[in-house]
Amino acid sequence: MTIGLVWFGNDLRCADQKMLWRATQEVDQLICLFCDAPEFKRPTQYATQGMSDKRRTFLSQGLDNLSQKLSALGQTLYVSELDPLNSLSLMLDALPISHVFLNHHGGWNEQSTLHQLAERFTDVQFHIEHGQTLFEPWQFPFFIEDLPNTFSKFRRAVETLEIADPLPNVKILPARVDFDLLQVRFARISPWQVRSRSNNKSCINSPFIGGEVSAQQQLTDYFTTDLPSYYKEVRNALSGWENSTKFSVWLAQGSVSARQILAALRQYEAERGANESTYWIFFELLWREYFHWYAACHGKALFLPHGLTSSHDTSSNAPLSKRANTVPPRSYYPERFRKWCQGNTPYPIVNACMKQLNQTGFMSNRGRQLVASCLIYELGIDWRYGAAYFEQQLLDYDVGSNWGNWQYIAGVGADPRGGRRFNLDKQTEQYDPDGEFIQTWQGDQFDRQLDSVDAADWPIYPQTGY
Ligand SMILES: Cc1cc2nc3c(=O)[nH]c(=O)nc-3n(C[C@H](O)[C@H](O)[C@H](O)COP(=O)(O)OP(=O)(O)OC[C@H]3O[C@@H](n4cnc5c(N)ncnc54)[C@H](O)[C@@H]3O)c2cc1C
Repeated sequence: MTIGLVWFGNDLRCADQKMLWRATQEVDQLICLFCDAPEFKRPTQYATQGMSDKRRTFLSQGLDNLSQKLSALGQTLYVSELDPLNSLSLMLDALPISHVFLNHHGGWNEQSTLHQLAERFTDVQFHIEHGQTLFEPWQFPFFIEDLPNTFSKFRRAVETLEIADPLPNVKILPARVDFDLLQVRFARISPWQVRSRSNNKSCINSPFIGGEVSAQQQLTDYFTTDLPSYYKEVRNALSGWENSTKFSVWLAQGSVSARQILAALRQYEAERGANESTYWIFFELLWREYFHWYAACHGKALFLPHGLTSSHDTSSNAPLSKRANTVPPRSYYPERFRKWCQGNTPYPIVNACMKQLNQTGFMSNRGRQLVASCLIYELGIDWRYGAAYFEQQLLDYDVGSNWGNWQYIAGVGADPRGGRRFNLDKQTEQYDPDGEFIQTWQGDQFDRQLDSVDAADWPIYPQTGY
């Protein structure tokens, strides 16, 4: 009797799920596990909380849905309160598990956890699938360690490669392992209790409901309109449900796969015609793909202040206005950071975007670029604080896409131009000419004075400015 363990992470779905197929072929009994890692709850080194309540609710909804789907396939979803390394070690030590099934994760922590487990449990087979990406790494004409250093080079190398169709759903899974029968007690591992009805009050009006059912609904809704044919023309708007696909939130949770989206896109193109806009949806999915492999390739460097640049020189005394395209600032101003998070800076467009993020858990791509540029180049704050706040707030938080995009704007990542500083006045004229977006989110309400204390913590008097 072989026992396997399916280790869910940011892949909360049963559809297009190769690891479930693999499990049905390899083992007689199965445990389905998700680790609700404590770092989600702990304050981080960047003065953020790890995961906002909205993100947590979205995750719970995804787990609710997964648990229901697994139960229809004769399985139970177990959730551990321990971090993945401890959870898996505990279970692999205590139970005769011979196979572990999981999807490849680009993140440094996830990769190192896997390495530690594989080193310690040498008689366990770890099956790593690539259910989160469009491609499998063996398809690339380069090794992941030699990932092209810009997106354009990557795109040119991969965009004509074949992309597999989504897999059909598994109809039945191996039998569940009865924990009592095995006489094992794991105090902090228990079956997931479906709770969406009781704890989702705060999200009743949110258009983002976690889980596979909502993900499929959004996929169908989007591709039954003609929005995909106009995507490129409207994708830069600061708000508006219909102006971009909104797939990112479900992609980040893994309640839909990139291949499912691509299949729906191809079907739309076959039925209604392909154009530059439909191509651009694919183009953006390639950006996501790039950042997945970028995280896998660069590991820890994704979180370093100087990122991929070799320079550790943070002593630049050049004024901030001259610093874009050089070394980004390494400073931390608690008051400025707090005000940026709250949407209380001298830049109404930034304030509006941040308030939108805080209230909805989402911000447009253009908005993200503007607020990131503001944090780095106007407020002079180390980009990693901004990335960490996004990690806390964004429903679509994804390690590669988030930290990779921040590096790009800070000029320490994959941007051949060495950073992006946006002119916030010009951007406001272009993307909010009537001030409607700013007004909706009350971006024009802010303290007239940015700093109330100077670098030595002395109060600055509003009237005199010193
Ligand atoms: C500073 C910053 C941080 C970001 N953090 C994240 C993040 O944590 N998670 C995340 O999914 N995206 C992130 N993005 C990328 C992008 O802003 C979002 O993917 C996009 O706004 C999501 O909305 P959508 O699904 O409607 O996108 P659409 O415009 O409809 O794009 C379709 C899909 O393409 C992908 N995509 C689009 N733009 C990008 C991009 N620049 N990088 C990577 N993938 C992209 C997403 O999967 C998206 O769902 C970030 C961008 C910036 C500038």
